[in-house]
Amino acid sequence: MANACSVRVRGVVQGVGFRPFVYRLAHANSLAGWVFNGGQGVEIHLEGAERDMEAFVQEMRSNPPSASTISEVEVEPAPCEDLKEFSIRESQHAERPTVHVSPDLPVCEDCLKECFDPSNQRYRYPYINCTNCGPRYSVIISLPYDRDNTTMRDWPMDAYCDAEYRDPANRRFHAQPVACPTCGPNFALRQKGALVAYGWNAIKRTAELLCEGGIVAIKGLGGYHLACDARNPSANAALRERKFRREKPFAIMAKDIEVASRLVLLTPDAEVLLTSLARPIVIVPARFELKGVAPDNHDLGVMLPYTPLQHLLFAAGAPEALVMTSANRSSEPISYEDADALKRLSGTADAFLIGERPIARRVDDSIVRAGAFGPVILRRSRGYAPSAVATLPIKRPVLALGADLKNTITLVVDGQAFISQHIGDLSHYQAFHSFTETIQDLIAMYDIDTRDLLLVHDSHPQYVSTCHGATLPANETRAIQHHRAHLASVLAERGEWAKRIVGVSFDGTGFGDDGSIWGGEIFVGSLESGFERAAHLRAAALPGGDGAAQYPVQAASGFLAQIDGLPDLTQPPFNFGSRYRDATQLICHEVRTFSTTSMGRLFDAVAALLGFVRESTFEGQAAIWLEHLARNSSNLDPYPLPITGGDLDFRPLFHAVIQDRLLGRSISEIARSFQRGVAAGSVQAIVQLCHSHVIDTVALSGGVFQNELLLEDMRSLLESHQLEIWTNHLVPPNDGGISLGQAALATFGHFNETKSSSLEGALHA
Ligand SMILES: [Zn+2]
Ligand SMILES: [Zn+2]
Repeated sequence: MANACSVRVRGVVQGVGFRPFVYRLAHANSLAGWVFNGGQGVEIHLEGAERDMEAFVQEMRSNPPSASTISEVEVEPAPCEDLKEFSIRESQHAERPTVHVSPDLPVCEDCLKECFDPSNQRYRYPYINCTNCGPRYSVIISLPYDRDNTTMRDWPMDAYCDAEYRDPANRRFHAQPVACPTCGPNFALRQKGALVAYGWNAIKRTAELLCEGGIVAIKGLGGYHLACDARNPSANAALRERKFRREKPFAIMAKDIEVASRLVLLTPDAEVLLTSLARPIVIVPARFELKGVAPDNHDLGVMLPYTPLQHLLFAAGAPEALVMTSANRSSEPISYEDADALKRLSGTADAFLIGERPIARRVDDSIVRAGAFGPVILRRSRGYAPSAVATLPIKRPVLALGADLKNTITLVVDGQAFISQHIGDLSHYQAFHSFTETIQDLIAMYDIDTRDLLLVHDSHPQYVSTCHGATLPANETRAIQHHRAHLASVLAERGEWAKRIVGVSFDGTGFGDDGSIWGGEIFVGSLESGFERAAHLRAAALPGGDGAAQYPVQAASGFLAQIDGLPDLTQPPFNFGSRYRDATQLICHEVRTFSTTSMGRLFDAVAALLGFVRESTFEGQAAIWLEHLARNSSNLDPYPLPITGGDLDFRPLFHAVIQDRLLGRSISEIARSFQRGVAAGSVQAIVQLCHSHVIDTVALSGGVFQNELLLEDMRSLLESHQLEIWTNHLVPPNDGGISLGQAALATFGHFNETKSSSLEGALHA
């Protein structure tokens, strides 16, 4: 008499070859039964000997398909159906799907082997894939994940593909995007409006164009790239000019790991990230300068090929290091639709290598770094999105709209927090459009009833995301303070709801409880109790408001207004221009001048004093310039940043910077003493607060903590204090992580507070 049991598996288990894996495993263990994709994961029914069922479950847990992530397995006894064999059943449409959609996967070794085998049906086929690899999120139109619900629905399979698709022993069994050159889409090369080559010829011709110094728009998984030879300075210069991108670094795609290690210094941690399934862009120190690729930057962003097309391009003789930058102009979002790409990029690209398979949604390359406290995600998109990043104790759905810069949104369904791909800067129309689309996309995909929805947005009344939030249907709409959301994201990632921490939130700008611009904040509290502001950077004037972020001298004028005995800053070595004088006038007459505690602006101000007096052409440029300057010095003497009455007083620090500058001290050494001073001052405040509140854990988040040197300094200064340091690992420390933090604070009912905290004087006591 056979036993039977039901096994429910949750996590990333659909679209990753899980059902064929289960089928083979059942056969190997002589079990009958069935498997299907349910609305909440994979449902399995097993019949056979007890011992065999146990072996099945153990093997499934310990050796699941490489692209899957099992979060939960439930095994229960079930009535025996006296089945004779094991079968795969049709997917079932559940009431509300909470399955985890798999992120896109890089082409696997088996598919690559076939792709380069002249005797294989898919020889040199740029869309080769199987259940272990290939597109997922970027081709899924709706759930459940079946071919009719993907962008492959217009290509019916031929007999060859169909036979593989139906054979449970085959690697392509139920691989939804399966195709071959006979039945599937392919790539075509267009030049000057005409189709000039198709298939392998198009790939070969593209490789030639790249070798000749051309710029080609190439369709990838989640959008178009603009590619050119990274070792060709005039191609790089032409790309910058046509793309209106003066200084922001370009990412490189290296042919393989050997080529990558000749370009950059790969630590073992960085290599793990580079070859990980997400195949992100990894920021690493460059071995030498590639002219025009990353000006004024010691680091380089490098990635490896992840689509069959990219491997084919290198095999066809393309330069072994390619600039591969998002196809857009300036900081607009990446192009992903063919007609739009042809229109928007006509002045930028010499040719277009267009793949026929449509992209369901825009998904940029992700950007990561192996940091002082472990891996840091700077842009979370392809390869990561839309996996769940946290579990929250809330039943009703929550939609968190994030911040306006580096926007992402988070949707919480049955307590699972799904964070969207990177959407970008909402001040651009295209990005805003993408923002509204992504909201609709996630709400539809997870079939959310908006009558029950808790909607949260930033407390900044003028944010585009805030204003859009007011137009969306919801049961309740609330605001969450920006810097608390940063810290909440760190705790939410770890599932630490009750843990009390001292939280440092250092950022560019964010709307504070008192209506001023915050950004140098230290809080005490937990997700459950909420966060109270306990200390902050001394407030400075911010002439011109958020616009000051673009001009470091403008930010400097606000801090310098509080410094006595200033030298004439329009003279050498400072050479501040008219913008400084104008900003000073605004402050004197209190016109368009705000109050700020922004740590980001403090870094800008010091960069200005050390020579960065021009306009910043991308977000964070002056701070990155300053960090790299500081790295050239090994001096560890900090400038003073004392803490008094909850105020981190920047005045002694500015006195020291100005004096050393007048004395002719090297700007690298000054930059280093400044960074060390910020670290030392912050650590002093942290230690005091941990002591007075009996807290042993510190969380660090906010855009300023993308500064690796600051993290390294804080780590070394905190070493002797036996404090635990937590940073973000699953979502970015910059505003890309805000939506998760908003969702977490909303879960515990901590909405925007308008009064400043009574704890503010705690340090004084
Ligand atoms: Zn494969
Ligand atoms: Zn076929």
